[in-house]
Amino acid sequence: MSEPPPLSGTHKLFGALVARGVRNRLEELRGDPLEKPLTDDQLDRLGPIVAGTVVTVLHAIDTPSIVSSMYLEAIQPPPETWDQPELLDDYVYLWREMAGPDTNCRHCDLPIIQTGPRRWIHRTPDGAVVGCRAASYTAAGGWNDDLARHWKARPA
Ligand SMILES: [Zn+2]
Repeated sequence: MSEPPPLSGTHKLFGALVARGVRNRLEELRGDPLEKPLTDDQLDRLGPIVAGTVVTVLHAIDTPSIVSSMYLEAIQPPPETWDQPELLDDYVYLWREMAGPDTNCRHCDLPIIQTGPRRWIHRTPDGAVVGCRAASYTAAGGWNDDLARHWKARPA
């Protein structure tokens, strides 16, 4: 018998954040007359279940082995009737209100958005990346090799 490698601090943080985020979201259902909200006791029992599930799945994904493969395969995929996950409205609202206006990068001319006092990221079809060369990637054309690897999103 052997023990799994220990949990990383990052996995523990993700587990705690997801569990707290789920609890906050479920607490909000109390204001909706169409919902049957969970009690505080139920929410308190749900938190460790969510956190434990998150850290276990992350650990299995990041620790390739026959055991983790078996574990991940045993988890059924979500039913097709479930909606695809989307960003929560309050988070999207914060981005719209708090992030600076869209502009273009001085190095690569791709669209960028400000995420902090001196922090910018490229807005790409697949998400957001800091590096100009990484942001230039397309499946058809690969990376733009004219962009220096150290260039990062900066406003013009
Ligand atoms: Zn750039």
